[in-house]
Amino acid sequence: RTDKKGYEEAQKRLKMAEEDHKKILPELRKESRRNYLSKREAEKLEDLEAEIADEEYLFSTDALTERERKELEYKRNLRDLAKDYKKAGAKEKEERKNRYYMPEEKRSKDIPQRDMELELEMPMEGGGEQGRWEEERLKTASLSFGAKKEREKGLKAEREKYQLILEEDEIINFVSSAVIMKGTQDETEQEQAALSQAEVQKQSIQEVRRSLPVFPYREDLLLAIQQHQILVIEGETGSGKTTQIPQFLMESGYNDGGMKIGCTQPRRVAAMSVAARVAQEVGVKLGNEVGYSIRFEDCTSERTVLKYMTDGIGLCLKVVVVIIDEAHERTLHTDILFGLIKDIARFRPDLKVLVASATLDTERFSCFFDDAPVFRIPGRRFPVDIFYTKAPEADYLEACVVSVLQIHVTQPPGDCLVFLTGQEEIETCCELLQERCRRLGSKISELLVLPIYANLPSDMQAKIFSPTPPGSRKVVVATNIAETSLTIDGIIYVIDPGFCKQKSYNARTGMESLIVTPCSRASANQRAGRAGRVAAGKCFRLYTAWAFKHEMEESTVPEIQRTNLGNVVLLLKSLGINDLIHFDFMDPPPHETLVLLGRRMAELPVDPMLSKMILASEQYKCSEEVLTIAAMLSVNNSIFYRPKDKVVHADNARQNFVVPGGDHMVLLNVYTQWLESGYSTQWCYENFIQFRSMKRARDVREQLEGLMDRIEVEVCSSGGDIVPIRKAVTAGYFYHTARLSKGGYKTVKHQQTVYVHPNSSLFEEQPRWLIYHELVFTTKEFMRQVIEIDSSWLLEVAPHYYKNKE
Ligand code: ADP
Ligand code: MG
Repeated sequence: RTDKKGYEEAQKRLKMAEEDHKKILPELRKESRRNYLSKREAEKLEDLEAEIADEEYLFSTDALTERERKELEYKRNLRDLAKDYKKAGAKEKEERKNRYYMPEEKRSKDIPQRDMELELEMPMEGGGEQGRWEEERLKTASLSFGAKKEREKGLKAEREKYQLILEEDEIINFVSSAVIMKGTQDETEQEQAALSQAEVQKQSIQEVRRSLPVFPYREDLLLAIQQHQILVIEGETGSGKTTQIPQFLMESGYNDGGMKIGCTQPRRVAAMSVAARVAQEVGVKLGNEVGYSIRFEDCTSERTVLKYMTDGIGLCLKVVVVIIDEAHERTLHTDILFGLIKDIARFRPDLKVLVASATLDTERFSCFFDDAPVFRIPGRRFPVDIFYTKAPEADYLEACVVSVLQIHVTQPPGDCLVFLTGQEEIETCCELLQERCRRLGSKISELLVLPIYANLPSDMQAKIFSPTPPGSRKVVVATNIAETSLTIDGIIYVIDPGFCKQKSYNARTGMESLIVTPCSRASANQRAGRAGRVAAGKCFRLYTAWAFKHEMEESTVPEIQRTNLGNVVLLLKSLGINDLIHFDFMDPPPHETLVLLGRRMAELPVDPMLSKMILASEQYKCSEEVLTIAAMLSVNNSIFYRPKDKVVHADNARQNFVVPGGDHMVLLNVYTQWLESGYSTQWCYENFIQFRSMKRARDVREQLEGLMDRIEVEVCSSGGDIVPIRKAVTAGYFYHTARLSKGGYKTVKHQQTVYVHPNSSLFEEQPRWLIYHELVFTTKEFMRQVIEIDSSWLLEVAPHYYKNKE
């Protein structure tokens, strides 16, 4: 025996190893499930081998006690067993990889192998190449317009039409496509499909279901699901992954015995809209057998067997199939869910996991889930001609408006989809379009302008799906949501300014903000793809081909890499996962930022700072008010309604709510008055307040109040004193302090120059110290929702943070 310390150490390790082995042995034996080693098991095997080697080195066999010798023996057996499995597995794994992609007989001759195939045919500058290329393009273009003469006539007429509605210098010059996205069907097929599309409206729901690309694969898919615990499903947007696959499962009895199917969605609107659609297809009332559950809103019942949800983490034990949908989006929730599900699947062999994704990087998912097979649903896609602007557009909103009108007067029938970044932009764009149409009156045919974004009332959301009346054209102005989450039929034209709103976190400054940034090439291609679902389409990119090639990122960075890790930590901790370092992340967040926060905070389904604020309200005896403020803050700047034709009224109404202290106090005032009105709709209407947002705030508040009980915080009121309320806000958001100095406001943390948002009640007052709820970067770095504070409070609420600052 060597020294005592070494011995103790080894003893300890042996004990740990024993525990470990108890766990892995049954796993190894579960041949039915997997007859080879997973990555983790292989790692364990390596550990095991190292341990055995260590022990053999440390101890001579005769110095071991009987028990220790047995243990070593046991380990050796285990090692040999594992090695056998590993060998068998390697073979099987190889076979599996080659075997399973798509049923061979279904593989049609011209289905693209992967993703959208982009054919980069950049014309050479000048020279014969260019001439030939242009001629080529003209030929293909004239094909879609008819004979060449017709086209020339058309061009002239086009110009005249322009002059009727647009100023000459307003017209956007698009460079005829430098890139064509290949379709997968030949021309006759295209025509047929375009025709049948016109008849789609008349088809019954069952006929529509049968016409979706996933339908012919129903049986193969069900078989594959039966055979594999984890299956990656890849399919073009609109192929029926989200709406059909859960129905296939229901139809084939996966719900027997009260089991449930869960389908996770990254976006609230998608969850609601898809659930509504499926309920309709199944023929049940939404919320009965088919329902949805999003944060702060649960539309399910005892009877619900299929549930669409934004928070898959709350999955219950009765779930028999979980579908992680829109996996390619790589949202924080999805990424965490990956790690959790992978783990859960190990000890629940009966659980089926389907990872559904648009045609993007599905190999990665397969790889993460220990080489799970990929089932590819061949897309039905028509070619999309892509146009770029000749020069960059200064104002993309205006450019969108002009492009829509340009399309409307010059292009054959077909609906149009415009991608913008958020509610405000979308509303402005819609208003501008409507305004222009009103002015043009009967000079143009009817243009139906429909917005779609997260906070839009659901009846308005449903409108985008209703068929366009003959003789008119529909324009859907959408956020990213229409990129892959929602499929709108009938879209032939896509307008893509190339931007999206992204949460971005700067680890150096500790600042998280929503920024409008150029989208990725992968996103731009998904967007373009929306134009080719029902017939050959066109995509107008409001940026140059050069920008596409050189200024855009290849793909979007997963959210987990650009979020405040406090959120990740909290989320995991609230699930009882404390070992964050070893959590199986697909793309692990930076190691050093994984810090531990309190469990109590983790109980609240809100941001860490917001939960800190709520907890602090206990100490300051103002939880009544703070709960209201928290609820109002979490409905996301959609309280005040400001229609363009009643700006003055709306602004006056808003002014009437102003009270001293800052925007948080204004929000509290709005809520209190609404409560006093008996939660009246009429009151909202008269005061230019959005009823729907208020209703949501009320729901959120009720939920939070319910949780107070659980975390034992007594709910009481400050009785009109605003100091405690502001102190509680400070306690939560001390990180977000800004101070007025010579050049304007600077954040205390990083001396960054920031501005009070013009919408704020403190815009003119400019108090010396303030706390902001969030920073948004539009034209400048604006602080949104600010509250005035006293600098002495900082020391009181966060001494550990501020003691050394001043
Ligand atoms: P995927 O998930 O593969 O992108 P979906 O299952 O979402 O495809 O869509 C399949 C079909 O269902 C599409 O033709 C789409 O237009 C239709 N659909 C989806 N949601 C709705 C809805 N709320 N109203 C009408 N049609 C819908
Ligand atoms: Mg889908």
